[in-house]
Amino acid sequence: MSFFGQVNRMFDAAAAHTEHPEGVLHQIRACDNICRIEFPLKRDDGAIEVIKGYRAEHSHHKQPTKGGIRYATSVSVDEVMALAALMSYKCAIVDVPFGGAKGGVHIDRRDYSDAELERLTRRYTFELARKNYIGPGIDVPAPDYGTSSREMAWILDTYNQLEHNELNSLACVTGKPVGQGGVRGRTEATGRGVFYGIRQACQFEDDMKELGLEPGIEGKTVVVQGLGNVGYHSAKFLQDGGAKLVGFAEIEGAIHDPDGMDIDAVMKHRRETGSIMDFPGATNIAASAEALELECDILVPAALEGVITEENAPRIKARIVAEAANGPVTSAADQILQDNGVLMIPDVYLNAGGVTVSYFEWLRNLSHVRHGRMSRRFEERNAERILRAVDELTAESFDDRLLDSLIKRIGFGASEEDLVNSGLEDTMAFAYDEVRVIRKEKDVDMRTAAFISAINKIAKSYADMGIFP
Ligand code: NAD
Repeated sequence: MSFFGQVNRMFDAAAAHTEHPEGVLHQIRACDNICRIEFPLKRDDGAIEVIKGYRAEHSHHKQPTKGGIRYATSVSVDEVMALAALMSYKCAIVDVPFGGAKGGVHIDRRDYSDAELERLTRRYTFELARKNYIGPGIDVPAPDYGTSSREMAWILDTYNQLEHNELNSLACVTGKPVGQGGVRGRTEATGRGVFYGIRQACQFEDDMKELGLEPGIEGKTVVVQGLGNVGYHSAKFLQDGGAKLVGFAEIEGAIHDPDGMDIDAVMKHRRETGSIMDFPGATNIAASAEALELECDILVPAALEGVITEENAPRIKARIVAEAANGPVTSAADQILQDNGVLMIPDVYLNAGGVTVSYFEWLRNLSHVRHGRMSRRFEERNAERILRAVDELTAESFDDRLLDSLIKRIGFGASEEDLVNSGLEDTMAFAYDEVRVIRKEKDVDMRTAAFISAINKIAKSYADMGIFP
């Protein structure tokens, strides 16, 4: 079944628990626009290669549409449609006011020099602009698999050249470098959100009991597949939260150490040797995908879609599968894992941290002011004033050193990063609880509950616009 077909199958399973008319459901499910582009790239050796690119805008119930740009050989019309649909549902679940979109260029980025990647990114942006598929109020890309803040800076610069009079042009793309209008905390946002989502799931004693696990992150064993942006940061925050990282899988193979490995040491080893293999103290696993079957509490697939299928699902030993990547579990595999009592934390909720912080970046760009700039010093002074007032009111005054230390510890205003992380934490925790309530009420799994939440919210948008009942 196609990837878009799989997303629609999950949609239909959830839609059966709602009472919206079939026409409304059909409109929510349909992919509104698709743009297919072919353009020439002059390679460094002078040869001309024709590059295929796509952009799908799945839903315009909120505008602009929003979604990453992926550079991978898996990119196709089907893939961008499926990923754009997931974006619509994801934004609805975490109350981020965008429709869903996704773009991609069909290349293996490792085959291209930096200069070639810059040329093709700029040309792809030019084509999107010409077809009205990019703009602060139209469609706003972000990084995804195979792209990073560097590509986003090229996109912004190209857009600026084309729309040099546009006041809000900084908001045409998110995930930019901070010096180019990016927001602090965006790079690690998806991984941080994955951590907040897993932590929220693990705090419910009754849910953990059903899995035979203790509540909390502390001491839980974790296997992570894919050590790119999302995988690395998810691993890093889980480690900082007290989890034990016992397995890592990358393209070149996988490593396993039941005693746990330090993620930064593994990354350093990979930088120095070009591979995660032969990490001191760990056992090599030549067939990378076998790492998914390692004994662990939490499995975090953070690479690409379709890595857990009906073939390997019966051998998955993790009690929690936390979908950091988009679509890592096929719908057939999903059923097998659910039947085996695994708690699935679905992609459509779990990796929403990226788009949540992209929303904060977009707001920063439209308001033309750094978050917290107007209030930080005021908050600092206010906290100091409160502490001094408490000091005056207390019969036995604090000694000066204690007062100074309290002011230092409590009397600081929130930085942009503090605000971004706090907004992200609140968003992930609130959305999890909302989805969990639906899960209990309807007696369904977390994925179905997440889709029900999305469908209800999108249907309400149409109803509020007076378009559908
Ligand atoms: P990335 O390019 O930074 O990293 C992906 C990593 O996966 C790379 O290190 C790659 O070598 C590795 N990989 C590829 N195939 C593998 C395989 N078969 N086995 C093991 N490792 C493999 O990409 P990313 O931005 O981290 O995105 C990863 C996933 O997360 C994608 O599904 C993406 O759609 C999703 N996602 C990303 C963001 C974001 O903000 N970047 C947001 C939401 C969802």
